[in-house]
Amino acid sequence: MEGTKQVMVGSVAIGGGAPISIQSMTNTDTRDVDATVAQIHALEQAGCEIVRVAVLDMEAARCIQSIKQQIHIPIVADIHFDGMLAVAALEAGVDKLRINPGNLPARHLDALLGALRERPVPVRVGVNAGSLPKDLQSKYGISAEAMVQSALRHVCLLEDGGFDNCLISLKAPDVPMTVQAYRRMAQLTCYPLHVGITHASGTEVGLVKSAIGIGALLLDGIGDTIRVSLTGDPVQEIAAAKTILQAAGVRRFGIDYICCPTCGRCRMPIESLLVEVQCRLASITEPLTVAVMGCEVNGPEEARSADIGITGCTGTQGDSEGVLFCKGERVARYPLHELMERFEAMAFDLAKAMPD
Ligand code: SF4
Repeated sequence: MEGTKQVMVGSVAIGGGAPISIQSMTNTDTRDVDATVAQIHALEQAGCEIVRVAVLDMEAARCIQSIKQQIHIPIVADIHFDGMLAVAALEAGVDKLRINPGNLPARHLDALLGALRERPVPVRVGVNAGSLPKDLQSKYGISAEAMVQSALRHVCLLEDGGFDNCLISLKAPDVPMTVQAYRRMAQLTCYPLHVGITHASGTEVGLVKSAIGIGALLLDGIGDTIRVSLTGDPVQEIAAAKTILQAAGVRRFGIDYICCPTCGRCRMPIESLLVEVQCRLASITEPLTVAVMGCEVNGPEEARSADIGITGCTGTQGDSEGVLFCKGERVARYPLHELMERFEAMAFDLAKAMPD
């Protein structure tokens, strides 16, 4: 977002007005290079822009070199408690670290700061509500303020060592607490913020929690990079992240669909039509707005306000027909079998005419 400091993770800018980037994390054993690379390729294909891997031991840290040679997006090492793993990851060419310096032995912190002077890649201080220091818990309880104070403490250790290429995250499974923590931190610092709801759960619940938490912050103008944490295959996180960013109006990834929820007035089989429309237009990457509406009550206005839209209506024989709209104009009324062909051809023409 505007106003935060910009850091570079490999070739991807975070903060300072750069597009809000999408991150994910592999769930393979990082020492299994082939499996990790395969999962990163799937993430890349889906649109992941930065990937994080867990580094549990020296072998995993060294594997980063081989993994990095085979992928196309920046790689982040996620490390806890052992600063020497971070030093090894830096030597292996990692693009960013996630580590909390306050959890390191003093000699590890010194070694890490020395290595960062040689290769000053960004460091994310990532505070989780589940692992707050005891003294902050006693003073503030498990709260937004405790998370903020904990993160500032970690950042101070880096700053005191002459390092300020930082990002901050403040994650909790509790959505209001997370939002409160980020709002407070945004008032206190200009470091870029990595935003997410941690341990959000499986797809259905996790997506709602993430959309509320990340979405609320994005609408406040807070957040420079996001990760949607969902249980299971991380590839699903990318579509979720794109949907949240697009719904918040901060990035576009191809078509934005407007579709009626259906009701008793519906004059078209909307559910199956939407699937068909999405299939037919799947290869369009231009930022079109497409409306698929069921009836003459609310349909025409929505279809008119989209780049292209269809709405159901009653035909002259009492049967179902569809009206095609393009750029605010009513084009014509067609029987349903003809509607799809006309609609598809016109959508591709519109996409082709859009500037790159
Ligand atoms: Fe019902 Fe028409 Fe609205 Fe669809 S557009 S929900 S059919 S009123």
